[in-house]
Amino acid sequence: MDDLYREVILDHYQHPHNHGVIPDADVTYEDSNPLCGDKIRMDMKIENGIVTDIKFTGKGCAISQASASMLTDEIKGKSLDELRHIDKQTVLDLIGIPLGPTRLKCALLPLKVIKAGAYGIREVDEEEEE
Ligand code: ZN
Repeated sequence: MDDLYREVILDHYQHPHNHGVIPDADVTYEDSNPLCGDKIRMDMKIENGIVTDIKFTGKGCAISQASASMLTDEIKGKSLDELRHIDKQTVLDLIGIPLGPTRLKCALLPLKVIKAGAYGIREVDEEEEE
């Protein structure tokens, strides 16, 4: 079932998009999912409230790494406001196959890392403007 989505996930896992580090990143954040052993680090370049570049490195299962690859594609070029609307459902739509509770944690780890990093810098920016 859902062979096409499984192929897409495997392809992202084997050939991840936006993989690597940004040497002069504005935001670097990483987190892990101890249940599965997944690790994700996100580097983001944020200019005028827009995520102009995003790259990730990590290790772990196909779901976590594919989710990171798909999400970085989705988020690059978006504003921090748009980023607020990217949620669990966005990730599920990208993954496209039903996930049990354990795999759901894998799929959501990259989003958790992105949001923690992005909202951190947003709060800093807002403080500076006041
Ligand atoms: Zn995992």
